[in-house]
Amino acid sequence: MDIPQATEPYSLKAHNSLGLEAFANRCIRLNNSASLYGLSQQLTESPRCILGHGTNLVIQGTAANPLKATVILNELKGIVRLPEQADGRPRIRCAAGESWHAFVMWTLAQGYGGLENLALIPGTVGAAPVQNIGAYGVEVADQIDAVHAWDFHQRDHVVFENADCAFGYRHSLFKDSNVQGPWNAPRYLITAVDFRLWSGSKAPLRLAYAGIEARLTALGIDHAPNPYQVAHAVMSLRREKLPDPEQEPNVGSFFKNPVVPKPFAQSLTTKYPNLPCYEAGDQSKLSAAWLIEAAGLKGWGLDQAGMSGRHALVLINRGQAKAADVLAVCQGVQKKVMGQFGVWLEPEPLFWPGSQAPANDSEPQS
Ligand SMILES: Cc1cc2nc3c(=O)[nH]c(=O)nc-3n(C[C@H](O)[C@H](O)[C@H](O)COP(=O)(O)OP(=O)(O)OC[C@H]3O[C@@H](n4cnc5c(N)ncnc54)[C@H](O)[C@@H]3O)c2cc1C
Repeated sequence: MDIPQATEPYSLKAHNSLGLEAFANRCIRLNNSASLYGLSQQLTESPRCILGHGTNLVIQGTAANPLKATVILNELKGIVRLPEQADGRPRIRCAAGESWHAFVMWTLAQGYGGLENLALIPGTVGAAPVQNIGAYGVEVADQIDAVHAWDFHQRDHVVFENADCAFGYRHSLFKDSNVQGPWNAPRYLITAVDFRLWSGSKAPLRLAYAGIEARLTALGIDHAPNPYQVAHAVMSLRREKLPDPEQEPNVGSFFKNPVVPKPFAQSLTTKYPNLPCYEAGDQSKLSAAWLIEAAGLKGWGLDQAGMSGRHALVLINRGQAKAADVLAVCQGVQKKVMGQFGVWLEPEPLFWPGSQAPANDSEPQS
């Protein structure tokens, strides 16, 4: 059995894309799923948390007062092809610690389509189902067959079929604290994900979203693009629009697009005809970026943290931000938008410790 290494206290600065100087009691590198049983025994009642590339997290914890938990750093690696089934579509199992973008590029290099719109999203493959990552009109749930996980309660491997994962907008069973438990006692550690893709030419491409077609044309591809070319158009758009975490540390979109009752959305769009509003089942989804910009908060913030001047939805670390600065900016935005439009913006990233996540203390939207 591979014995994981442990060090203490452990700096997480290099492990979170917001670049927060955070520490944890201890960190264990998980690079072999066979060591999970031993790890479960070791951590029976001890607090633990699971870390991928830290691109969707706000982490608190100083050197003097570190996070009271063992951080399990997911480094499980490996990609295998699964036997073909009757539909003839390629099926791939990817270990949870692989880089998401590298995996997408690997699938495209094999001639497989399905993940092209999700190119350049940072993070690990194992975290992709957690918030059902999505971009350019596609969600990862569309291509997931099954999710393999370690169950810390049963101390055994379990498999969730797609339908069991409760996938929704930036949500799944693995982000539901009623199932997954609190931040420092997660029940399931995702070890691998099975994908059902398409052989290149059969891939149903989704181009009618946020300028993909126009970008393909600008790149000189105006006729029957392949999935690889679509990924390049998406990457080109993303590089232009999103601040690079290497230059301006961030976690991508900081707020989810709010989903509100239809009559309430209608009253808002009557008052603000430019507010983008989309169907979301029997509700409506509003553009969080529009609300933030219209509230005059694009580029607003404190010395150390603030909303990007380039993209209204992205909160950036302006230098030496601490989690408290990030929270203050987050709450400033939430209160201003609530006051102006009556809409409460929910953060997209998760917070460690979980109790730090801001809650809506105002009247619900109706
Ligand atoms: C510049 C930028 C752009 C982004 N663009 C997008 C985008 O377009 N669409 C989008 O959806 N997201 C986007 N994100 C958010 C982020 O990339 C995704 O949420 C990503 O899936 C997070 O992966 P991670 O490995 O960094 O997860 P982490 O941040 O390490 O973890 C996030 C959560 O998942 C849990 N977790 C991680 N791995 C596992 C596992 N193996 N088992 C169980 N739980 C686990 C963690 O405990 C934590 O609660 C963006 C982020 C950045 C910085």
